[in-house]
Amino acid sequence: MAGKIKSNQYCKGCPAICCKNLAMEIGKPENRKEVEDLKWQLQFDTVKVYIRKNRWYQLVEGRCMYLSSDNFCTIYQRRPKKCRNHNPPHCERYGKYYNIMLDSPDDLEKYLAKKKKAEKK
Ligand code: SF4
Ligand code: SF4
Repeated sequence: MAGKIKSNQYCKGCPAICCKNLAMEIGKPENRKEVEDLKWQLQFDTVKVYIRKNRWYQLVEGRCMYLSSDNFCTIYQRRPKKCRNHNPPHCERYGKYYNIMLDSPDDLEKYLAKKKKAEKK
């Protein structure tokens, strides 16, 4: 993640993309109501859902309050554990942090239909 102490060459020159996206693990939608709820969230252009190693995450675009205007973490030495555990190249800059990205309600429906079809085979 962005920091005044750049110990990782991968972060060099990055506009701190990871500090401008809030990613939270969510449960896989298990029934129609949960699917509809997730579809509703995906209507918002700042919200996405991604799947990584069969775990589901909600991604909300937004800037961390501790990120300076020149994209440095102002609390780097005491940044939260979640930030410490987020390491490139498995991060937003390199696009390797997800297996599936769902951008819209339609994406979610199509993904679930494809999974269902594959399970029937
Ligand atoms: S998105 Fe990746 S490369 Fe950029 S600051 Fe965050 S961890 Fe570093
Ligand atoms: S606390 Fe620092 S490293 Fe963590 S998201 Fe905020 S600016 Fe980024």
